[in-house]
Amino acid sequence: MKNVNLHIAKFGGTSVADLEAMQKCAKIVANDPATRLVVVSASAGVTNHLVTLSSSLLTHSQIEEVLQQISNIQLHILHALGEPAELAEKLDSLMLAMKEQAFHEELLHRDDLKDALLSFGERMSSLLFTEVLRLNGVNAENFDVRKVLRTDSVFTEAAPQLEQIEQLAKQFLLPEMAQKVIVTQGFIGADEQGRTTTLGRGGSDFTAALLAEALNADVCQIWTDVVGVYTTDPRITSAAKPLPELSFEEAAEMANFGAKVLHPATMEPALRKNIRVFVGSSKEPEKGGTWIVRDCEQEPPYRAITRRKQQVMVTVKTPKMMHAQGFLQQVFTIIAAHNLSVDLVTTSEIAVSFTLDNPANSVAEKLNRETLEELKLFCDVVIERDYDLVTVVGNNMHSAAGVSSKIFSSVRDYNLRMICYGANPHNMSFLVHQDDSTEIVKELHRCLFES
Ligand code: ADP
Ligand code: ASP
Ligand code: MG
Repeated sequence: MKNVNLHIAKFGGTSVADLEAMQKCAKIVANDPATRLVVVSASAGVTNHLVTLSSSLLTHSQIEEVLQQISNIQLHILHALGEPAELAEKLDSLMLAMKEQAFHEELLHRDDLKDALLSFGERMSSLLFTEVLRLNGVNAENFDVRKVLRTDSVFTEAAPQLEQIEQLAKQFLLPEMAQKVIVTQGFIGADEQGRTTTLGRGGSDFTAALLAEALNADVCQIWTDVVGVYTTDPRITSAAKPLPELSFEEAAEMANFGAKVLHPATMEPALRKNIRVFVGSSKEPEKGGTWIVRDCEQEPPYRAITRRKQQVMVTVKTPKMMHAQGFLQQVFTIIAAHNLSVDLVTTSEIAVSFTLDNPANSVAEKLNRETLEELKLFCDVVIERDYDLVTVVGNNMHSAAGVSSKIFSSVRDYNLRMICYGANPHNMSFLVHQDDSTEIVKELHRCLFES
């Protein structure tokens, strides 16, 4: 049953970047007595630094330098807090452990070690934010999310184990929340053997939604640096407008197709449990934000435009494909065997083009020589990069008259490589050259939302 008095608040990297930003978040929590659980990201920049450490070959002094940059971000906050002894001690021991992890000899070759290192960002920020809440009169306690956020052992892209998360959260988290406001870490989890895992970049939104699901929360708040979900990324065009409401399906499509404001999987738990999701700005909470709900008042044909960058398009071609049964299956079996997942597909009689899901741009690395060699045994393979995927998200797009012509006429001057339309009523996607994508999104935005 839904716990109508339970709100979960997630604060992203810029929201916990420094003490000033944290103070604003603390006021948001203090002003809403229903917020019993707070999920935080690492302070802005910290995870990027940790990724640098875990994925580049650095000299000893370069490692020291990056560690120093991370420490500076956190110590700046500690200093602004007046360096309370207990907090300073805890932070210091985390930093020591982080350093040890950063110098691990096998770091570059083992994903489990990478995840262990990446976890320090959220562990440090949550510690600091707990203190900021206390200073704002909130009875807050830091909680290690790895006690409850059980995942599989696919390091760097771990999948949550829903039943176990629910059971563990009810057992360990809920009782704590009755007494105090709990501050915990987004992005990280632990597998069955207790090894630290991560949910993929931007995963803190997903953590908040998963915990909201496990605890039957009424609302999951995503506090970030924009006043809601916009008609398109406000960094692409200043004409983008915040949307007062969105449906779960629309938001899921947007997240999946590149709207960075929500991690791609965030809407899944919300959809399963009908949890309302609010997206707003921690800097300007008074400006309101976007409510993502099951049933919206309106279902416009066009709601938003998203862009997903750096797509990899693979075209496989064989003259034998004509009438050749099982060709597609053969291709996709090889792709799946190499842990790649196909995203968009178009087919013709002699060729199939597909794009590959490209989380954190890992495809270039994964689409290795081995995969290609196996494919080349029975077909010609062409790999093309430098493409972005542009998606228009809306409603009843496959059945409403004039939708496709309106979209296509506004981008008629550009070369569209793959067009996917009709399989889903909520989107229409096409692949375009990366040099054109900004102009295309702007042009589409003008045509669909500014006239
Ligand atoms: P956080 O650190 O709070 O998780 P992110 O940087 O992950 O924040 O996400 C917020 C950013 O998402 C915004 O600054 C914005 O540039 C980007 N963004 C992309 N698409 C959209 C959209 N449709 N609406 C709002 N923001 C978007
Ligand atoms: N700190 C992690 C990242 O930067 C997770 C998040 O911010 O959501 O990817
Ligand atoms: Mg994010």
